[in-house]
Amino acid sequence: MSKPYQPNAITPPVIEPGTEHFWDQARAGLLTIKSCKSCGKVHWYPRTLCPFCMGETEWKQSSGKGKIYSYSVMQRGDPNPYCIAYVTLEEGVTMMTQIVDCDLDDVRIGQAVEVVFKPTDGDDTPPVPMFIPT
Ligand SMILES: [Zn+2]
Repeated sequence: MSKPYQPNAITPPVIEPGTEHFWDQARAGLLTIKSCKSCGKVHWYPRTLCPFCMGETEWKQSSGKGKIYSYSVMQRGDPNPYCIAYVTLEEGVTMMTQIVDCDLDDVRIGQAVEVVFKPTDGDDTPPVPMFIPT
């Protein structure tokens, strides 16, 4: 059996104050994460204050490469099956996302993946980061 990825409509993101830069970069195909100016640690999702030491944070470009930490294929997707996953980026943070553009039956824990930006179902809304196996 194979289960080729077929796109579902993607709800546009809610752009919280302070995350405009993230979505501007997303439009340019770049994944950004936040790092702390005080302790240097990175975190996900982006926050104004460091979750480890409450220091100020700054944007940092991610390589967009990572590995699948965990995943689940939603067999009865809407309307197509899709794969929800936690991906750990090279920088060390883990984000919830989807694995796309591959056979969903071949997705595996530990698989190397790379970010791809998928258009959202709105009028001039930014794309969202998802991942494809490399
Ligand atoms: Zn910190």
